[in-house]
Amino acid sequence: MSHQDQHPAPNKLDVVVVGAGFAGLYQLHRLRGQGFDVRIIEAGDGVGGTWYWNRYPGARCDVRSVDYSYSFSPELEAEWEWSEKYAAQPEILRYLEHVADRFDLRRDIDLGIRLTAATFDETSGRWMIETDQGGRYDAQFLIMATGNLSSSRIPDIPGLDDFHGARLHTAQWPKEGIDLTGRRVGVIGTGSSGVQVIPELAAQADHVTVFQRTPAFALPANNRPLTGEEKRQAHERAEWRRNAARNSSFGIDLPAPQYKALEVDDAERRATYESYWDDGAATALMLSYRDLLYDREANETVAEFLRDKIKTIVDDPETARALTPHGFPFGAKRACVGTNYPAIYNEPHVDLVDVGADPIDRFTATGLRTESGTEHPLDAIVFATGFDAMTGALTSVDIRGREGVLLRDKWSVGPHNFLGVSTSGFPNMFIVTGPGSPSVLSNVVVSIEQHVDWITRCLTFLRDHRIATIDASAGSEADWVRQVNEAAARTLYPEGNSWYLGANVPGKPRVFMPYVRGLNHYSRICDEIAERGYDGFVLAPRPEGAASTKASSKKPA
Ligand code: NAP
Repeated sequence: MSHQDQHPAPNKLDVVVVGAGFAGLYQLHRLRGQGFDVRIIEAGDGVGGTWYWNRYPGARCDVRSVDYSYSFSPELEAEWEWSEKYAAQPEILRYLEHVADRFDLRRDIDLGIRLTAATFDETSGRWMIETDQGGRYDAQFLIMATGNLSSSRIPDIPGLDDFHGARLHTAQWPKEGIDLTGRRVGVIGTGSSGVQVIPELAAQADHVTVFQRTPAFALPANNRPLTGEEKRQAHERAEWRRNAARNSSFGIDLPAPQYKALEVDDAERRATYESYWDDGAATALMLSYRDLLYDREANETVAEFLRDKIKTIVDDPETARALTPHGFPFGAKRACVGTNYPAIYNEPHVDLVDVGADPIDRFTATGLRTESGTEHPLDAIVFATGFDAMTGALTSVDIRGREGVLLRDKWSVGPHNFLGVSTSGFPNMFIVTGPGSPSVLSNVVVSIEQHVDWITRCLTFLRDHRIATIDASAGSEADWVRQVNEAAARTLYPEGNSWYLGANVPGKPRVFMPYVRGLNHYSRICDEIAERGYDGFVLAPRPEGAASTKASSKKPA
């Protein structure tokens, strides 16, 4: 084999996009439309991102299907019909596969390839990208469309390797499924994934033991098939609904709350909360009054409403008490939406172990032991333990910016960024819905479209103005981080030990990562910055005579 064969020339492109979920697919489509030469690299063997990996039984979105979908193509909107109020994982995955086919995206996606390193080369102003399959790419722009909840976490519990049973993580569920019939299954974690998977496991398994550290606020999804009338209306009102979503704070066309919770009487408040409870609408409940996310006393009214519900659902008072969340406001940790939860604890073969009171000690060959010495025999353990959220997918690979600085090192004190789309010292790198943007505090598909549109406009501007590199200035970044922190500090969000804060990963800096002032407000800021010629960024022109990008010689499709 020649030296050249061992190190084949890198694939030279305008743009490499990492990830083929909602963000990556749309980014490819948009940039291709502007004539850029783009490729996606994707670790999975298929498209779909989060909806490719999270195949656990019960996985379902808790944003309405007609809203949790792309708005960029009226034709796509018109031809796709959602079957249920909240779509389940297989249907969302089918939708994304359809999008990949319909827009002929697959020919520019390299599947089964994981990014391992990306290094910015100061001389060429380009990114050198390496993958686990040995392939390399050389691109002017690097777009991380890697998602906020993609780096799954298994906590470091002693003895895990001694355990002889099956080991599963909700976000790494086997593609072929797994039959847990007749088995004794343990579940660690009662966040959104746990709340969804536990009742489904109980339907199969002989016995389910749930290890709960912190009880969650959970609403019933009250999911159901969409009626013919609802489907018709979804199509007819699509344009109006989508515009309203883009101009809203959460990316959903909810009415802006008129009153504060403490301004109305008990009966009115209760009626409001009941209606959102019946609708299984956690975000709408959180936004039903203006002060719920700002005033602890106001928040207690909704928290108490939800606590009371547990008592009416769960028969055993001791179990109901253990399931009742205390000590953090409703909404500070993401509210969960499930089916048959917590009613499932009324089943005789489902047990709750409060590992907040009696912490997990270790795995043994045959199960899990808590600190009191109690042994819980298990044939399988399901980790519903979440993610190294928002930063994990970016810091787990070697991304090196100017002067060889590793992103992981730069972010060891928190994910410093400008607009949640860029980070100073990493020129020509963009992050779709990164920390510092509304992302996870919104209907993320709307946030993704907003970011992808902004990035596309930016890259087109750079090409048209013969700009070689764009980099957030250190000053604008510091100012943005301050604004993000100050805005979060005015809310109740930082009062929960949430993954929004990095609190679920030992050693992770505690910084509230999402931008809380709303998608509408945020979009305006991004647009104004673009209109002012990318104010806050440092733009470096291409030297005279330097080779242009391939895109500059192409006509937009
Ligand atoms: P999560 O919300 O971070 O929940 C992880 C759970 O594992 C928590 O109950 C946590 O307890 C527990 N845990 C972690 N380490 C533990 C340990 N060492 N010992 C005991 N318990 C431990 O993760 P997730 O449920 O996968 O959800 C993450 C996010 O994904 C959600 O918030 C949501 O944004 C998204 N999601 C959405 C849906 C949906 O649309 N319906 C479904 C699934 C996921 P502590 O609370 O004490 O840390």
